[in-house]
Amino acid sequence: MIKIGLEIHCQLTTLRSKLFCSCAANYRKYKPNLNTCPICLGMPGTLPLINKKAIEKAIILALTLDCKIPNKIIFYRKNYFYPDLPKNFQITQLNVDDCYTSIGYDGKLKLQNKFIEINRIQLEEDPGRINYVTISEKSKLTLIDYNRSGISLIEIVTKPNFTSNIEVKEFLEHLSNLLIHLDISDPSLAGSLRTDVNISTDNHNKVELKNINSVHDLEKAVNFEIVRQRNFINRNIEIQQETRHWDERRKITISARSKETEQDYRYFIEQDIPSILIPHNLVSRLHKTMPESIIYKKAKYSKLGIPNQVADTILSDLYYTKLFESSYTDKNAKHIANIITTDLIRYLNTKEQISKSKLTSQHLVRLSELVSENKLKRDLIKNVLREAILTGASIDNILSKLNLEQIDDMTMISQIIDTIINSESDLIKQIHNNPNVINHLIGKIMTKTGNVQPKIIITLLKSKLNISND
Ligand SMILES: [Zn+2]
Repeated sequence: MIKIGLEIHCQLTTLRSKLFCSCAANYRKYKPNLNTCPICLGMPGTLPLINKKAIEKAIILALTLDCKIPNKIIFYRKNYFYPDLPKNFQITQLNVDDCYTSIGYDGKLKLQNKFIEINRIQLEEDPGRINYVTISEKSKLTLIDYNRSGISLIEIVTKPNFTSNIEVKEFLEHLSNLLIHLDISDPSLAGSLRTDVNISTDNHNKVELKNINSVHDLEKAVNFEIVRQRNFINRNIEIQQETRHWDERRKITISARSKETEQDYRYFIEQDIPSILIPHNLVSRLHKTMPESIIYKKAKYSKLGIPNQVADTILSDLYYTKLFESSYTDKNAKHIANIITTDLIRYLNTKEQISKSKLTSQHLVRLSELVSENKLKRDLIKNVLREAILTGASIDNILSKLNLEQIDDMTMISQIIDTIINSESDLIKQIHNNPNVINHLIGKIMTKTGNVQPKIIITLLKSKLNISND
């Protein structure tokens, strides 16, 4: 039996400032060590001041993951020495025995076939970054950049409910999507979502895999570790309780150090931050005003008759979701969903294409009207969409410009059909013996009518020729 638990570190990339000081949350745009101040450099005598927005975002995530929120949260110091941690301790949270003081606890997230329980969610600061640079064979440098020091992190700790790398992948993808839609984090930014994994096989010792940066690598690392542990058990070799690293290049896990226990960190309460009361009315206000989670949106789309797979595609990118949300009504939802997931996605599937696009929700609304009234053939939507994306012109202007407007004057279509029938009287005599005759006639009519829906022509022609329409 495989048991896998996750500890996911997620940066709050949508905040403006760090967790305890006013340095920028978007540290990525700065040259090394230029996004720092005495607080995030851990200078003696400085005092941390908590970022209220970070607490609010963490509560929103906790609520979405069905966590309980305590009345009071407490911060702790986790003591360890490492060059990326200038204070020699990290300000984080801890639940001691039955006293829950981290931002959320006892939550769950539903996968396709099971629930994954969430032990706790805590708020903490990110350390700085160490860069190992090789100048030459003899000259290797270790550089430290404190721009990241003090960035707000949420740590999500799950119970060991996972039994395969596939479930781990599904959970991570689902969570990434939630973080985007809740405006908490952009997981596509390098290093914004880092996962530690605990894996044990048949109740043998637990092994921790540290700091895996992508869902792709995570899936591979978990798979490698399951196979490695199985091999050891089959050969009666004891599995060491240890921390291992994922070597991205060689695609293997390698031993790093024996695993620390909680006592090693000598946790104690951070006296510089008083315990923070979380009033009930703050939680209910956040609950009411927080962005709709994708869990809720998916249920809403299902009620509109949109298939799950189509809903997943719309929700796979915030751009599509926002476009859909700003253009759908109960009546046109299916058409809009269809246009986005079958046509639009071909032209707008990279960030660059999306940023240049001039398409608006008005375009989609007008297109869906034309499609539902059978005024525009489905295969012409692509051309119209491409033009709207490039120029931003109105759909009606584009149609006249591309000369794609369909003749919807039934009298005129009827006259054209009559003319063809009259001029092809010999052919029409064979209509009941030769099935190709009807297609030949339709072809002739369509060259005269242009972009009229073939369905309309077939129905009219058959009724004029007294042929049943099935
Ligand atoms: Zn700072």
